[in-house]
Amino acid sequence: MSEFYLTGLSDKDKPWDYHRGLADQVRDLYRGTEFASYADRIGICAKLLEFALTTADSGEMLFRLQTASFCRVRHCPVCQWRRSLMWKARFLKALPAITIDYPTARWIFLTISVPNCQLVELRQTLTSMNRAWKRLSERKIFPALGWVKSFEVTRNKKDGSAHPHFHILMMVPAGYFGSRGGYINQQQWTDLWKDCLRADYKPHVHVTAVKARKLHAGGADPGAGLIVAIKETLKYSVKGEELVADASWLIELTHQLHKTRAIGLGGVLKDYLSEAEPDDENLIHADDQSGEVSPDDPRWWFSWREMVKRYMGGQIT
Ligand SMILES: [Zn+2]
Repeated sequence: MSEFYLTGLSDKDKPWDYHRGLADQVRDLYRGTEFASYADRIGICAKLLEFALTTADSGEMLFRLQTASFCRVRHCPVCQWRRSLMWKARFLKALPAITIDYPTARWIFLTISVPNCQLVELRQTLTSMNRAWKRLSERKIFPALGWVKSFEVTRNKKDGSAHPHFHILMMVPAGYFGSRGGYINQQQWTDLWKDCLRADYKPHVHVTAVKARKLHAGGADPGAGLIVAIKETLKYSVKGEELVADASWLIELTHQLHKTRAIGLGGVLKDYLSEAEPDDENLIHADDQSGEVSPDDPRWWFSWREMVKRYMGGQIT
């Protein structure tokens, strides 16, 4: 059987090599630590992938994942990538129904943070951020009909401190930007967040309206700007490169974020989106395209080759 690189055959599957390569590194960092069982699980995560080669509605050939087994360890680079894809897919699937029920609603994208903390204080910091967010979302002037919030932490390269922040995508009523719609500008958001944090410093806040994006052919696609904002909101809690930057940082991070929630929903969006943790099937079909898979579609297997850091395989005959 001739063998091929998965990434040589399918553009959309290019991230597989990257994330599985990072997973090898995370596994190595967990080895010999109190998280050795995570090392074992990540070690066998998605080592074998079965795809159906289908013809998409557009006529192009498309690999569609049929079988894989995921470890679902919180900081497994493969699983956090698939989880992020799944969240985006869940949101995009819910969007038509939301648009029908709230045809004139607008969206705003809010990023709120607190000053860097020591990694050992991350859990406590996250708890107080969540309490502050709860206070803010219960204020009378809080404008959102619904919201989705994700937690992200970045690592300061110089001193290893943690920079925690929330990305929040909010759906607001059509009149929000009008004179009596309750519009809140950046300064007011900053004051609100400061107040709810009960802070004596000025926290960093950034707010922007989600705008329709210009299309290449002219005109504007009202949904495209929202899709960009959805992708920005529902990305990973910790970038893959930062997971593997420093062994002791990863170990402490794992302690600090144990059983914390990365994504939260509020308001009417709870009626359209599930907060349930994904299972293998969800992670398999996280990036699935439209169209049926037929039993007659050729099957391809790819396995992870650690030596060359690539998935290799071929068609099953
Ligand atoms: Zn995994």
